Amino acid sequence: MTDKRMHKIPGHNDVKWDDKNSDKFRGAVKETGIGFMGYDYDSATEQFKVFLHYDQLYYWKYAEVSKLGKGFVDGEFWGTKCPKCGDKFFPPRVNCWALDDNLEKTEWIKLKEEGVVHTFTIAGWSGKSSLKRLPFVLAYVIVDGCKTAIANELRGIDPWDAEFGMPVKVVWKPKNERQGTVTDWHFEPADGWKPSGMNPEKERMKELCQPVIDWVKTMK
Ligand SMILES: [Zn+2]
Repeated sequence: MTDKRMHKIPGHNDVKWDDKNSDKFRGAVKETGIGFMGYDYDSATEQFKVFLHYDQLYYWKYAEVSKLGKGFVDGEFWGTKCPKCGDKFFPPRVNCWALDDNLEKTEWIKLKEEGVVHTFTIAGWSGKSSLKRLPFVLAYVIVDGCKTAIANELRGIDPWDAEFGMPVKVVWKPKNERQGTVTDWHFEPADGWKPSGMNPEKERMKELCQPVIDWVKTMK
């Protein structure tokens, strides 16, 4: 008898990758470093994989969490939920982490594209492709009441205005630019959210950001 908790792995010849996009973004490589080049999807087995160029082309298969990558291409957030304890996960976990649940297999659920900031940092340095946007906020966000948090950029805000617990929404790239990766979207403050007034800690953050802002202005 097969153990239902085990991961499903389609045989090599069972995956035809009928929706091929591996070359879709390859012409956009302009620098040495990492870049997402494209993706393949197999509609029959619901398998998703992403191609990267990190000095050389390679890919990783999403395997049991393929629905996450395909969801990004489709502009949807898919997480998982444990049928025993009800914990929700995004990024998704295939098996529940609760010790009492004996690695119960989780189920897919579509999530609301909204969340709250669990924690954040202000980036004063970055990879080449995002240097000109410094300083920016990287936030760990709890999406739709999940028990795991996902990291992404929080835009549309002065970095020193970021707050723990602030509500955020999700903003997608245009569909034809999506690659099935976390760079397909970013967070922005929820509609109607207003930052609290300046305080000593915010003033300190603003002062720390200023040299970065000045330096970015000197970049061509
Ligand atoms: Zn559970």
